[in-house]
Amino acid sequence: MKFGGTSVGSASRMKQVVELVNDSSRKIVVLSAVSGTTNALEQIAFAYKAQQSELAQSLISTLFGKYETFIDELYETSEAKQKAMDYVKLRFDELRTSAILSPQHSFRMEKIILAQGELMSTHLVTFFMEEMGVEANLLPALDFMRIKDGEPDHDFIEEKLTAQLASFPDCNLFITQGYICRNESGKVDNLRRGGSDYSASLIGAAIRADEIQIWTDIDGMHNNDPRVVKDTFPVHELSFDEAAELAYFGAKILHPSSILPAQKRNVPVRLLNTMQPGAKGTIINSEITGTKIKAIAAKDGITVIKIKSSRMLMAYGFLREVFQVFEEFKTPIDMITTSEVAVSVTIDHTYYLETILKKLRGFATVEVESNQTIIAIVGHFSDEDKGIAVHVFEALKDIPIRMISSGGSKFNVSMVVKEEYKEQALNALNEGLFVGKLAVV
Ligand code: ADP
Ligand code: ASP
Ligand code: MG
Repeated sequence: MKFGGTSVGSASRMKQVVELVNDSSRKIVVLSAVSGTTNALEQIAFAYKAQQSELAQSLISTLFGKYETFIDELYETSEAKQKAMDYVKLRFDELRTSAILSPQHSFRMEKIILAQGELMSTHLVTFFMEEMGVEANLLPALDFMRIKDGEPDHDFIEEKLTAQLASFPDCNLFITQGYICRNESGKVDNLRRGGSDYSASLIGAAIRADEIQIWTDIDGMHNNDPRVVKDTFPVHELSFDEAAELAYFGAKILHPSSILPAQKRNVPVRLLNTMQPGAKGTIINSEITGTKIKAIAAKDGITVIKIKSSRMLMAYGFLREVFQVFEEFKTPIDMITTSEVAVSVTIDHTYYLETILKKLRGFATVEVESNQTIIAIVGHFSDEDKGIAVHVFEALKDIPIRMISSGGSKFNVSMVVKEEYKEQALNALNEGLFVGKLAVV
């Protein structure tokens, strides 16, 4: 059971989480940091990196004040308050002294700063359970969650976690941190923003859980981005493939990589609402059910690179040459469209963009467009389906489309539009594909 930042965002929410998990079934509870904390920690790390030590100290003091109030509201007894305060002070001491690390250690320092949120939330909950007489054990994620070359080290995770669980045969309730991990050198690292979902999936897969539950602030995966489109509704059933596409292409409710570990071990994932525990939510498993078009997601900050060369005409090996450049600079490509003389690709992260462009310009003409959005229409489409494209293009008739990709898989039809058209495109697609038309598609 994973609870996100809002689900542990106040003393009363944290109490509700304890009520939700406190029954006799054996489970691991994965917690995010208290909402707002990781953003604040990012700002603190940024201030340190910019050598703005005073700003960092002032941000730290503001955050500390929030935890003082939190502790005061969460616990009844002065002993429990003291214990929690002693622990939180240790974490804040770590934050305050981070500045003594030299700039060449700033990368490592940032990871340590970012880890403090999950360390605090899990300890606060564990101390609260202690006060309430609820028996639970804290499993330190830094002892079992490991990445190697940026990817989860599944064997290590399984081995260490199983051993830790075996040492508490009579315990039914375990608490652990989402998001944080160590890398192959044993240094503190993380699974990227929103990574607690990924932690939960990796843990659920490692222990072959009956189910992985992601508890958040909304009643399941909606058919469109509720931050941009009004009147969205929950999709109650999704296949692993559909959910993975939605997560990867921007549905924030799930970390982009969080479906894969569960899918590999065929562990169902259930999305549930902490604020409305009785709501049905979304079940994600290997079954394909329901309407063909399930949901729409959008991923911002996309860069389109057009690579044009007369050598591509009737030639083989050109695409290999292109892909090699991206491989060399560890930059994943999300979408591709080709014509006889040019290929357009999209990338998400641009750390190595300048070097990539330089290399590509060695053998082709290159054009770059940033601030693009990929709009993904996700569902299950068979080769026999007719008319889906008609609905999509009719809906988008007033919006310029830069790229179109269909047929790459049965689960996704994608388009690239300029970011400024995202809101209009998502709303137009909602109108065209869902409002009163579910039966059609
Ligand atoms: P948590 O802190 O629990 O991990 P997140 O903020 O990361 O929560 O994810 C939940 C949020 O994801 C929702 O409040 C909603 O605004 C956003 N979201 C974006 N797309 C979708 C979608 N398709 N379905 C549901 N929620 C979505
Ligand atoms: N606390 C981390 C973040 O805000 C991880 C998570 O919430 O999943 O990104
Ligand atoms: Mg999240």
